[in-house]
Amino acid sequence: MPRLAAALAVIVLACARLSGPEPAELVLRHGSVYVGDAAGTRAEALAVRGGVVAYVGDDRGVEAFVGPHTRVVELGGKLVLPGFHDAHVHPVAAGLEASRCRLGGIAEPSALEARIRECAAAQSTRAWVEGGGWELPLFPNANPEKQLLDRLVPDRPALLMSADGHSAWANSRALAAAGITRETPDPPNGRIERDPRTGDPSGTLREAAVGLAARAAPPPTPEELGAALRRGLDALAKLGVVCAHEANATPAFWDAYLAWDASGAPGPRVRAALALPADYASVDPLPAFTAARGQANGARLRAPAVKLFLDGVIEARTAALLEPYEGGDDLGPANFSPEALDALVVRLDAAGFQIHMHAIGDRAVRMGLDAVGYAHAANGARDARDTIAHLELVSPDDLPRFAPLGVVPNIQALWAQADPYITELTIPVLGDERSLDLYPIGSLFATGAVVAAGSDWPVSSANPLAAMEVGVTRRAEGSGAGPGWIPEQRASLEQMIAAYTRGGAWLDFEERERGTLEAGKRADLVVLDRDVFALAPDQISQATVLETIADGETIWRAP
Ligand SMILES: [Zn+2]
Repeated sequence: MPRLAAALAVIVLACARLSGPEPAELVLRHGSVYVGDAAGTRAEALAVRGGVVAYVGDDRGVEAFVGPHTRVVELGGKLVLPGFHDAHVHPVAAGLEASRCRLGGIAEPSALEARIRECAAAQSTRAWVEGGGWELPLFPNANPEKQLLDRLVPDRPALLMSADGHSAWANSRALAAAGITRETPDPPNGRIERDPRTGDPSGTLREAAVGLAARAAPPPTPEELGAALRRGLDALAKLGVVCAHEANATPAFWDAYLAWDASGAPGPRVRAALALPADYASVDPLPAFTAARGQANGARLRAPAVKLFLDGVIEARTAALLEPYEGGDDLGPANFSPEALDALVVRLDAAGFQIHMHAIGDRAVRMGLDAVGYAHAANGARDARDTIAHLELVSPDDLPRFAPLGVVPNIQALWAQADPYITELTIPVLGDERSLDLYPIGSLFATGAVVAAGSDWPVSSANPLAAMEVGVTRRAEGSGAGPGWIPEQRASLEQMIAAYTRGGAWLDFEERERGTLEAGKRADLVVLDRDVFALAPDQISQATVLETIADGETIWRAP
């Protein structure tokens, strides 16, 4: 009898085993899991099986998912969040800048000069000295002169992009190599800054004029682009990014993405917005766009969108405004007439592309919204999820238009602080009253539109936690408690996390599969070293990412 009882017990146990869940490959327990749903649900533990969240709940319930081969992570009170989506970023450009000459964040002219000399020495075998990231407020009127760069790089052409990517600083040899002289007219949508006395190019090129010089430089090799892309994606994975929206994929960049996808190297997923070629008005770009879209339709890489730059930036007076810049009648240039933009957006929309627009000035924002409305009228309204990035100055009249048009505000919250870009180069040219409408992030959330968030790296830091902190405080990172700049436009931490997670998933039409840590969704998650909800708001950016998991696969883990 005892033997029979034992045999029965074994059978009962086996049945319990069979009726219980299959073991998970990963269990995270004894921590805090922020599910990221609208209700703000918290759990203690989570299990991942087959790349999917198989369980989210209390510690007791997760035990059933622990098998002999399960990797069990003891969180010890640490925080798990849904993985971050960077809805506007330039990984290839960032990687190129880092491998050539990185000038970002340098606040002293003498340090900038020293760094440029170092870069020239380090690039001794290259025909041109290239790099970027110099901060516009370092120079009066954001206007560096060629004479200084001639002294720093006397022997070769030098071309250095500004931090925002909308201006370039060229030395005399670069201008000569590009054939840019006193006689060269400003190109459409571009400006060659000139010496007011002589009319000679003074060394700064704006917007499309940057291309005149850049085209004369030797193009990066496919190897250089591939290395830059891997460097860029690795850096994003380290910051918790599971999905990156490449915000301007040129054909050469796109080839680098295809090679990366084929290599199978781990990394964040990529959703690319294809770059509009300069000759789009004479050569129909749609066949090339459609071909590129057809080249990658997997989970990792897609090209669902086309990027349109509607205007430039306020600091260089290239943003398109509804009312003139202070002290004149200059409204700033838009890169399209409203009619041309409407026609282009109608064609792209009819071909099923999402429109990813750069719009900084309030006139550019309005043109973007108008064009989407026009496309809906022409093609029939559809769930298109177009997006407008940056949204620096938005007319209060246009705020309520995003949600009904289905346009996703794509915010760069790190910029919503009173740094020298704002205090020295923006408020003086807009005036105090209009400046109260700068970066209306709180208002955008309040409209009910689904908001997505991104970094625009390498324009500024790619760290989502830094952008979340500034979105919440409207102050520089770590600058203590205080009212912040235009404090009524602050967002909550919950809103900022939503924009970086389910807002991004929404933009990808993947809100049913991703963006929150609900059971049944793909396992995209980050483990933080501390609970950001328990921190003072000005400490949020101090948290660091311990592990990033995309689609159930670890793409970065702290050593
Ligand atoms: Zn950008």
